[in-house]
Amino acid sequence: MQIYKLLPKTNCKDCGLPTCMAFAMQVAAKQRALTDCPHLSEESKAALSEASAPPMKLVKIGADGKQFEIGQETVMFRHEEKFHRPCGIAVRIPSSLSDDEALKKSEGINGAVFQRVGETLKVQLAAVEVDGCSNPVDRVKKIADKSEVPLILIGNDPGVMKSVCEAVKDVRPLIYRADASNIDDFADIASSLKLPLAIFAEGLEQHADLSQKAKEKGVDDILLSFDSGKLGETIRMLTIARRAALRQNFKPLGYPSMVEIKADDPNDETVIASAFAAKYAGIVLMDSLESWQLLPILVVVQNVYTDPQVPNTVEAKLYEIGNPNENSPVMFTTNFSLTYFSVESEVERSKVPSYICVVETEGLGVLNAYAGDKISAEKVVKTLEAQKVADKVKHRKLIIPGLLPVFRAEIEDTSVWKEVIIGPESAREIPAFLQNKWKS
Ligand code: SF4
Repeated sequence: MQIYKLLPKTNCKDCGLPTCMAFAMQVAAKQRALTDCPHLSEESKAALSEASAPPMKLVKIGADGKQFEIGQETVMFRHEEKFHRPCGIAVRIPSSLSDDEALKKSEGINGAVFQRVGETLKVQLAAVEVDGCSNPVDRVKKIADKSEVPLILIGNDPGVMKSVCEAVKDVRPLIYRADASNIDDFADIASSLKLPLAIFAEGLEQHADLSQKAKEKGVDDILLSFDSGKLGETIRMLTIARRAALRQNFKPLGYPSMVEIKADDPNDETVIASAFAAKYAGIVLMDSLESWQLLPILVVVQNVYTDPQVPNTVEAKLYEIGNPNENSPVMFTTNFSLTYFSVESEVERSKVPSYICVVETEGLGVLNAYAGDKISAEKVVKTLEAQKVADKVKHRKLIIPGLLPVFRAEIEDTSVWKEVIIGPESAREIPAFLQNKWKS
């Protein structure tokens, strides 16, 4: 009804529907876009787009080509649907570093890239402290030139922030840290340069108050920043803010969040950042660039942000690891990506070039696929035939997973693979198995 009230109510049918009421019903059901009515007044457009805006704003940091997007989440819990935009790690470049050291850390951030189960995991943002630098504009410009990831500019001084933002506005950095003491000045900078703004507040009421102030000054892209000081209390605030946005459509808290991690001990930093990455920070800002710290956090993010409705799979086909030849081992596994990549990485580690035949099991691992009737000796034989594996090698030996010894006799009886070898139960035993037991 709220949508209908704002329509022209002329029933002119130009939208292809018989009445404005029918159009309003379809907009409410998200089957039509508001723009399908060509006669909306500007006033109605503004009111309707506000009413139909998602409960959490989508915020983009960085320029085209290397943007980091966060927000527009729709659910509290992953199993309700999925989480849409993975939490990003931002690494601080302190003002206490020399210019050379700062550039070196920026290069380190560019290089903080890891591969895991077929996906690329990396540090998403470089957070440059500007207050306290002898020449902040020069430093930020040099880092912006070299950085392969979007920037966060950290500072409290509006004068310094204004000058650096003007110098690098084209790379669209996130301005951080607006707070109660500088909100008017920081909001003016963000609004005039059309940059995203992160607001730090002591509590949720102050967050709502400051975000409203920024919005009234014309800032569209806002993040709510929280202190990591008390882990439990901060997670409680992040949860309340998200619930208020998603369940009550409370606009002043309808923004993604970030948490600045403060911890003296690197182990604590890693654990705390992982906790906030899981619930519900959009960005965790930390100091360390150590791989042993970054990788566990990235793995947490990767696991939390997979879509629970979509099985994690690889294509069911024949994979060639190394440069296998006609004497190389042949083995099969399932198309669950974690299973496949575990096998693949252990085969690589063995340094024995091999063929891996991947059987379609709807994304289930070996035992689950067997229990769920998604894999059978007959299916394995058919897959080997379809992938023409026998054409690749001159031997007829097939290594099967140690968890499926029951397949051995049937495969030998019904296929060209007359010597079925029961392989290891666990992927980590593959290198020793291939190096010590494989003979073509
Ligand atoms: Fe109503 Fe607009 Fe459709 Fe005309 S085009 S019927 S005014 S909704």
